Amino acid sequence: MSLQSPVSSFTDLQLPESLLAAVLDLGFTVPSQIQIAAIPPLLAGRDITGVAQTGTGKTAAFGLPLLAKVDPALAAVQALVLTPTRELAMQVADAVASFATHLGDVNVVAVYGGSPYGPQIHALKAGAQVVVGTPGRVMDHLEKGTLTLADVKFLVLDEADEMLRMGFAEDVDTIFGQAPKQRQVALFSATMPPGIRRVAQQHLSDPVEIAVDRQSSTVTSVTQQYAIVPFKHKTGALVRVLATSDAEAAIVFCRTRSAAEEVGAVLVARGISAATISGDVAQKDREKIVERLRSGSLDVLVATDVAARGLDVDRIGLVVNFDLPTEAEAYVHRIGRTGRAGRTGTAVSFVAPHERSKLRHIERTIKTSLVEMAVPSPADVSAHRARALLGRVDARLAAGRLNLYDGLVAQYLAEHELDPAAVLAAVVALGVGDEGPSPRRDAELAEHEELTAAQRAPRRPARDDVDRPAHDSRRRVSADRDASRRPTTSRTAGRIRDDEGPVKKGRTPHRGPVGTRYRVAVGFNTGAEPRGIVGALTNEGGLRGADIGKIDMFPSFSLVDISASMDSAQVDRISRARVGGKPLRIRVDEGPRQHRDAR
Ligand code: ADP
Ligand code: MG
Repeated sequence: MSLQSPVSSFTDLQLPESLLAAVLDLGFTVPSQIQIAAIPPLLAGRDITGVAQTGTGKTAAFGLPLLAKVDPALAAVQALVLTPTRELAMQVADAVASFATHLGDVNVVAVYGGSPYGPQIHALKAGAQVVVGTPGRVMDHLEKGTLTLADVKFLVLDEADEMLRMGFAEDVDTIFGQAPKQRQVALFSATMPPGIRRVAQQHLSDPVEIAVDRQSSTVTSVTQQYAIVPFKHKTGALVRVLATSDAEAAIVFCRTRSAAEEVGAVLVARGISAATISGDVAQKDREKIVERLRSGSLDVLVATDVAARGLDVDRIGLVVNFDLPTEAEAYVHRIGRTGRAGRTGTAVSFVAPHERSKLRHIERTIKTSLVEMAVPSPADVSAHRARALLGRVDARLAAGRLNLYDGLVAQYLAEHELDPAAVLAAVVALGVGDEGPSPRRDAELAEHEELTAAQRAPRRPARDDVDRPAHDSRRRVSADRDASRRPTTSRTAGRIRDDEGPVKKGRTPHRGPVGTRYRVAVGFNTGAEPRGIVGALTNEGGLRGADIGKIDMFPSFSLVDISASMDSAQVDRISRARVGGKPLRIRVDEGPRQHRDAR
């Protein structure tokens, strides 16, 4: 984060030593704008309102002064932070606890709905000084008498606009009514609509009003680009954007749940470590997925706006807007998922040719121009992978134990009269999955040329993208996927997997030597399990277990590899078979329907 203010370090902010030490432990060197503006008045006992976007460092802006006011020797709740969601309550509680590591015995407890009371009550009884919670659950604890606010001297409303949007206004009023009159309040919000002003007038006294402009918040640490991509080319473009990114992890945003699920399915089918979360993924599963993303066992998250709220994962270096959001506000939220923790990030937005005006609207609102980029070509992908592969050579040499290969290479060179550099080039090509001229490669190149032509012709009639019969472009996606189903490179640079060379293409829809990917209309949200699907395929369909390959399950559908050919009577019987009460309705998977869903 860059800043022009004279304050350039945390030591200028008059924070107690113990808090400074914690901040240094966390690797924060330069305070963010909102921290510079909010910490001194809060330490001086003033109320504040802070308008700032996500990713600007609000948690430390209130968390540090809040802890400076807490008396570790007093076993009573002295500070209360209200957040709109359970996820945020947990995040903020974790962050505040991390600031408190040098303070002696300060306990931070998170309370939120959808989780049993027992452990929360136990933690409150054990003597919490700081409580972070959602308004609903805080109310419940107040009513049960398991939480009292008599000793509270510091109240925070985090993401107040979101809290009002979720209908918590009355709860907030009640909670404030139960806190002592002598108290300090900090209110943070991304926007300041009249509803929030009313809350501020009612509950804050003579607040210092702070606003951090968008320009200098998240947005400066994020490089913002866009590419003109007709709907039918979006999936291919996405795969290549991911394959040429150096980001550790990425989030892909889709407008609808079904588009998100289908894009996620395509990425998984291409060997990318991806998962989908949409609004109706159970909280427990959502947390698991977020944890996998954080720990590095997952590289790409496909999400809808609702599902990604409050998501804070430092590894995310790339945000792709597969669908352009309708609201500029949503755009800012989305790209705020990258460039976190003082890191830099990249945001790439796919803009369909007829969406240019929507792009201009976003640019005007955020007062920033996005830079046009070309979608990477298949050759760009290979070059990127080759560079990543070569980038690991030094370390591999240093690691040693290459004698096995030394012998083989020496023998090969002795038997063939070839330039070692040419041999190395061929090995690298194989290593990155470039098998040379082939029908698959040619199809990829032709597709890319079509995309490039579309980018060069801004005034293409819209019907080219919108009115083309759906299956026409979907068949292309499907054929393309079949051809590239073999293991491909993980999207992160530097993690190249073996490439097994050319694979025969399963072009015929119902038969194919490597099997065909089918889609069935049941998923884990409809009560299906893999063995139920296998059961229906073998019992009703008469398939052998060996005919059934990988099954990828999604909330509302599943993808199944089947290597046997089926006649229409079999397909019919399987379609009518039920798993978890729902018919399978099996069909050849034809890739995402984003050009239908996105409208
Ligand atoms: P907000 O609540 O405004 O969305 P957070 O408080 O969640 O933002 O902070 C966003 C990220 O930035 C977190 O990962 C946090 O650890 C990190 N961060 C906050 N302040 C600093 C700082 N001064 N230097 C480096 N990283 C910071
Ligand atoms: Mg926050």
